[in-house]
Amino acid sequence: MFKKILVANRGEIALRIQRACQELGVKAVMVYSEADREAKYVKLADEAVCIGPPPSALSYLNMPAIISAAEVTDAEAIHPGYGFLSENADFAERVEKSGFQFIGPTPESIRLMGDKVSAKQAMIKAGVPCVPGSEGELPDNPAEIRRIAKSIGYPVIIKAAGGGGGRGMRVVHTEAALVNAVQMTKAEAQAAFGNPAVYMEKFLQNPRHIEIQILADKYKNAVYLGERDCSMQRRHQKIIEEAPAPGIPRKLIEKIGDRCAAACKRIGYRGAGTFEFLYENGEFYFIEMNTRVQVEHPVTELITGIDIVKTQIMVAAGEKLPFAQRDIVLRGHALEIRVNAEHPYNFVPSPGRITMWHAPGGPGVRVDSHVYTNYFVPPNYDSMIGKIIVHGDTRDQALARMRTALAETVVEGINTNIPLHRELMVDAKFMSGGTNIHYLEEWLSHHKR
Ligand code: ADP
Repeated sequence: MFKKILVANRGEIALRIQRACQELGVKAVMVYSEADREAKYVKLADEAVCIGPPPSALSYLNMPAIISAAEVTDAEAIHPGYGFLSENADFAERVEKSGFQFIGPTPESIRLMGDKVSAKQAMIKAGVPCVPGSEGELPDNPAEIRRIAKSIGYPVIIKAAGGGGGRGMRVVHTEAALVNAVQMTKAEAQAAFGNPAVYMEKFLQNPRHIEIQILADKYKNAVYLGERDCSMQRRHQKIIEEAPAPGIPRKLIEKIGDRCAAACKRIGYRGAGTFEFLYENGEFYFIEMNTRVQVEHPVTELITGIDIVKTQIMVAAGEKLPFAQRDIVLRGHALEIRVNAEHPYNFVPSPGRITMWHAPGGPGVRVDSHVYTNYFVPPNYDSMIGKIIVHGDTRDQALARMRTALAETVVEGINTNIPLHRELMVDAKFMSGGTNIHYLEEWLSHHKR
């Protein structure tokens, strides 16, 4: 096992990794920007290194600063968390070339899966079902583009090969709008991701977002830890996640889970990863793979009893996966809500000083958050300030626990989306389970304030 790990991230995930290190008896070096000096994990740290001023480009995305911090503190490995440099193959490569272990897959796996066109091609080869679409990147010839769209059938969605974070996508309903939409998406993709390649998929009308968590080691052992339902989204951003996914037959999940684990073995994947699917009319369609730990990993931890972050660290250190597929048993139901520092209904970000933070507790309640009373939420980063995760024997019990937890939660001084979550937890449709990816946006349009 490593003696010391550097945590190249901030916020709740930095604290989560620090906690995993503590349990493993590994020292954790925390890095921080000038805006994060006051964070809880910095105060609790064995060692902490300032890596630059508040803008991410100068701190959490600053590769030389992060690698020098690992050098000066004698860390052996770097955990990238999620976001920032976590899916940057060049970073993973530089980390390894500098003599550190990257806690994640190889740069080659990140590169293969980071490009959605090559990822889809790899999944088709591995027998994972994908959304019907263009064979790879779209050509420039307008007649050819029209022919492809016609063969797929409208509506179609144009997606950037290098896209992420819900950006670089455009839905097209008619042939008249097609070529212009492709050109606009290409221009945006070039500007946002430095790669103009786009591809086309059938636009599924009412799918759910279901994803499969996998864990793999360096010895081609791979398991899947069941699924998560992340269909409650606004602008392609998840706000509520749960496991298992209500109403999907176990047999179907097992079939797709086995395919995902087999695909990992095939590509030599190691570490934690997530295969994201759209699910419609009893069919799964692969959309992309995330080659890192995800925000919503705790719901899987609660129903499997497996610590995903600790396992990431163990397999990076060269250990074998300590369990096989038959050892993975799902128990009960878990729900997670993301607490965002934003207005609950108009979503305007709300950074600033938290004058009162009271977290919920009780049986089956977990809070992952780096904030506390008197903490200042910096305006420079993502608005998520924590997560409340609950576990129950049944989905109804988990819902009841979440309602109690949300009733106990007090955040003053800034706006949060807690009032929205309180309403959603008593919404009849959400309570009955299985809502699709458009449900939250539709709900919001009917609940204008
Ligand atoms: P990103 O990497 O930006 O998150 P994804 O490919 O994971 O992009 O897609 C994000 C979301 O966009 C999905 O969860 C879904 O809501 C929507 N989406 C993507 N592809 C399709 C499609 N073919 N049909 C319908 N919705 C889609």
